[in-house]
Amino acid sequence: MIIVLKNDILPEQYANIVKTVESYGFKTFTHEGKNKKIVGAVGDITNFDPRKIKVLDGVWDVFKATEPYKLVSRNTKNEKTIIRLGNEQIGADKLTLISGPCSVESEAHIFRMAKIVKEAGIKILRGGAFKPRSSPYSFQGLGEEGLKYLRAAADEYGLYVITEVLQNDQVALVYKYTDIFQVGARNMQNFSLLKELASTNKPVMIKRGVSATIEELFMSAEYILSGGNENVILCERGIRTFENYTRHTFDLSSIPVMFDKTHLPVIADPSHSAGLRNYVPALARAAVAVGADGLMLEIHDNPKAAFSDGPQALYPEDLSKLLSELKIIAGAVGKTI
Ligand code: PEP
Ligand code: MN
Repeated sequence: MIIVLKNDILPEQYANIVKTVESYGFKTFTHEGKNKKIVGAVGDITNFDPRKIKVLDGVWDVFKATEPYKLVSRNTKNEKTIIRLGNEQIGADKLTLISGPCSVESEAHIFRMAKIVKEAGIKILRGGAFKPRSSPYSFQGLGEEGLKYLRAAADEYGLYVITEVLQNDQVALVYKYTDIFQVGARNMQNFSLLKELASTNKPVMIKRGVSATIEELFMSAEYILSGGNENVILCERGIRTFENYTRHTFDLSSIPVMFDKTHLPVIADPSHSAGLRNYVPALARAAVAVGADGLMLEIHDNPKAAFSDGPQALYPEDLSKLLSELKIIAGAVGKTI
């Protein structure tokens, strides 16, 4: 922690700052530059609120020199985390592709979608059975019935399943049917859900909240790692900005930042970022180009009739075209599909 002192600081204020900082267990050193005098505080700030120092007389500003997350940090573990799912490896050189409809709509529909996913060479099937809808009047998902259809469709085509869990009392149920838990953007800071998922042994993909900073996403991941589950995947799915020509603003820059700061795999979701199918392929290509470990892509064979997110769903033929483009981009950045 770096404490910048006011230029007109009084000697007794300086003495009090040093005494207070040391009383919290930090070691201090003082550096007097040409224009500024600073106090450096060395110690563990994981659980320390710098405002305790900011309020002291004579302090101009306080900066944290270390990050509040530990286990997700690349400073703690430089080696990239690879999550194993049968023969699949998430976070390795082969891109992880996830596809399927927004919602599980019916048994017949999810079977049709699973067939398309399988034929595209994709290994992980998505589909929400518990849907976090902005409106209580929108389709809320088929619940356990949907989970059963999703699992059966995945098993029929030899696929893995990722599906969203909304609340603590669904964890045991969803566990029975899924291979990866999805924590949605709206639940990124549902800390009690994160703690519950930390006690399971299945991978968890956390989607970035629409107004969450990258550091906040890391802190949510930290809940799961510190609770004993190291299999966490981060997902960039767009954030809220002033721009409204897209549903969200795809924060492409978060992907290289996440690689720099954490060892966890990063999946990009251009479908929820764009909100409109026309823009999804371009964002998907861009995500692979900046180094995403994989993509989550919503598809539908009849988007006009989709129960949710139809306008952003790719047609099956769009998906195969996109995958052939992605092959070229993946190759250019040292990845395979
Ligand atoms: C979804 O994946 O269908 C979903 C609801 O995503 P998000 O949480 O990113 O809105
Ligand atoms: Mn969706």
